[in-house]
Amino acid sequence: MQELDFLEIARRVIGGGEVTADELDQLFRVEGEAIYDLMYAAHKVRVHFHGNRVTFCSIIPSKFGKCSEDCKFCAQSVHWNTGITPHPMMDAETVKKACLDAKKNGASAFGLVNSGRGPTKQDWPQVVAAIKAIKEVDGICHCATLGELTREQARELKALGIRRINHNIETSREFYPNIVTTHTWEDRIRTLQIARQEGLELCCGCIFGMGESIEDRVSIVLALRKINPQVVPLNFLYPIPGTPLEHMQPLQPLEILKIIATVRLALPHPDIKIGGGREKNLRDLQSWIFYAGATSAIIGNYLATYGRPHEVDLQMIRDLELEWHADRVGDADPARPLEFSFDPPANGQAKGRLTLQLIG
Ligand code: SF4
Repeated sequence: MQELDFLEIARRVIGGGEVTADELDQLFRVEGEAIYDLMYAAHKVRVHFHGNRVTFCSIIPSKFGKCSEDCKFCAQSVHWNTGITPHPMMDAETVKKACLDAKKNGASAFGLVNSGRGPTKQDWPQVVAAIKAIKEVDGICHCATLGELTREQARELKALGIRRINHNIETSREFYPNIVTTHTWEDRIRTLQIARQEGLELCCGCIFGMGESIEDRVSIVLALRKINPQVVPLNFLYPIPGTPLEHMQPLQPLEILKIIATVRLALPHPDIKIGGGREKNLRDLQSWIFYAGATSAIIGNYLATYGRPHEVDLQMIRDLELEWHADRVGDADPARPLEFSFDPPANGQAKGRLTLQLIG
């Protein structure tokens, strides 16, 4: 195998070229000291496309737990016994207060996040009321994570002023049936297509560290490149007791930084936002996410785990001499179409592979 020249790849990406699937495979296999060289190349790409600007976003679990779906990583599924305390949809004033706090704490975007496969008929009026309430808070991007959306719901969200929908592909299409069986990867793609067609921005990423192979990681990145989102959240599994993935070994910090750098070389344009697993998996190395190519992070608490105080994150970017930005700094790749589609699933693909690399 020919050794990769990371800086040649960075120069090519800066010049409008792209990383090939073979190169992605090799990049995900880089080890040891070479990871630092890879990060340097990703840093050059980030600075070229985004300068020193970074953003933060904040989320609120506006409806928590009791979810019908069986996502093996998630504390909120009714299928696992994780000891969480579920709550129904919060009232509009509580959500608005959280939005005001998020803005005061330095968030550039605020997202309400509901558990469940998609918004129910009963919840919808409360979802609408909550969105109207957060729309009274100016100077922050209003986002929603509501699961599967119908075209009518997506249209109404857009009309209400929701700018961006978060809907992750979670993992590769091939590995997905090992992680979720109550809906398909293609179901998720359908929601993303509808949201885009209705004029909503896409925040679409995944979770690494669920036992996926290198080939799965390449497949994830190629799928994200095709979807061409404005924002790409990258999460790193921190196993939650009671879920089927509770014994997974968390990814090591340098492995995580390598993944971030590889994704940045493959996706130079969007915001790359580091979400779940930042504090717990990266530990002291979390300030390196920006050098590895990220432009954003979630501040405050996550859905089922606590984050560190926002002041510490704001101090971190001051120390790094990065500039806080009130809007997203990245965007979809202007050279790629916004419409996207995937071939129908091949025969038997829905069965997936049977091996989960469970450790312990
Ligand atoms: S990830 Fe979402 S859909 Fe899956 S179990 Fe958790 S709340 Fe439900």
